[in-house]
Amino acid sequence: MTTATVHRAPFGSTPDGQAVELFTLTNADGIEVRAMTYGAIIVSIKTPDRAGQLGDITLGFDSLSGYLAESPYFGAIVGRYGNRLAQGRFTLDGAIYHLATNNGPNHLHGGIKGFDKVVWTGEPFQNDSGVGVGFGYTSTDGEEGYPGNLQVHVRYTLTDNDELVVSYGATTDKATPVNLTQHTYFNLVGDASRDILDHQLEIDADSLTPVDSTLIPTGAITPVEGTPFDFRTPTAIGARIGQDNQQLRFGGGYDHNFVLRRTGSGLVPAAHVLEPTSGRTLEVLTTEPGIQFYSGNFLDGTITGKGGQVYGHRFGFCLETQHYPDSPNHANFPSTILRPGVEYRSTTVFRFGGAK
Ligand code: BGC
Repeated sequence: MTTATVHRAPFGSTPDGQAVELFTLTNADGIEVRAMTYGAIIVSIKTPDRAGQLGDITLGFDSLSGYLAESPYFGAIVGRYGNRLAQGRFTLDGAIYHLATNNGPNHLHGGIKGFDKVVWTGEPFQNDSGVGVGFGYTSTDGEEGYPGNLQVHVRYTLTDNDELVVSYGATTDKATPVNLTQHTYFNLVGDASRDILDHQLEIDADSLTPVDSTLIPTGAITPVEGTPFDFRTPTAIGARIGQDNQQLRFGGGYDHNFVLRRTGSGLVPAAHVLEPTSGRTLEVLTTEPGIQFYSGNFLDGTITGKGGQVYGHRFGFCLETQHYPDSPNHANFPSTILRPGVEYRSTTVFRFGGAK
């Protein structure tokens, strides 16, 4: 049996009076993950550096009020459809659905009040592999314009092997697009004390889905070879980010979906990150077909986060495992449509290392 622990505590309440709870998961190596019922948000992840010093490797706020005021999806579960849907529109079984356009001309991350801004139920658990918290939410038919009552479950398990396993499940009573992801901003330096440009990144992708100037995929799938998007061998995030390249210009840096190498439907390696000064590493494995690598281009020093740290340009990066953006509008992309009687299932593993 695991020696890990899970602790439950109040974490304030929303303006309309809903109580929010915080769950703290700790394993035998001292790794600590805190997550709350508002947005199923991961509030912090503390891991040791090569000297054994614990540091927080995520961006966010010290208290609930920061998340309520202004958060670019720090740590959140994003849904019902993570990433963008062109013009806030999709057609399904002959009907046209109109969603909020909350990102220029497009729909982003589930709309005005997505899964990141609602209060989930939360229950702690302990099993043979570690401890965790299970979050639940029912998204009603028509919420944010999406069809069907969708029951969503997300479980965070902190294992004795220094992994955070994120497993998703969902069922619906009408066909609907579903694309759930985890939107933690990482900075492995610890406490986000500087930008992430020296992090060495490897992505297990031979191709990506290029975008137009509003970050909607053109529908093409193009090789990374010979471009600043070739992360098939470990490369500093900042090494090529300033190159004169149309895709980098459109994203203001990296903000792109990479097509993972995949055979079968199980977990495959997606990304590996090493931060050279701390020695911390992060590995990402997933059952999803894609991963959005976002280099924190929209962070601009206007947000002050945990411990009074100002989050400057590219002080955090996201590795959002997912189906491709705008899939409902691209017949050549893997389908994101969930139908009644079928269960949506997805798993992503974040494995922490560096300081044994
Ligand atoms: C998107 C970015 C966006 C960020 C925060 C990412 O998933 O790809 O374009 O700015 O989320 O909103």
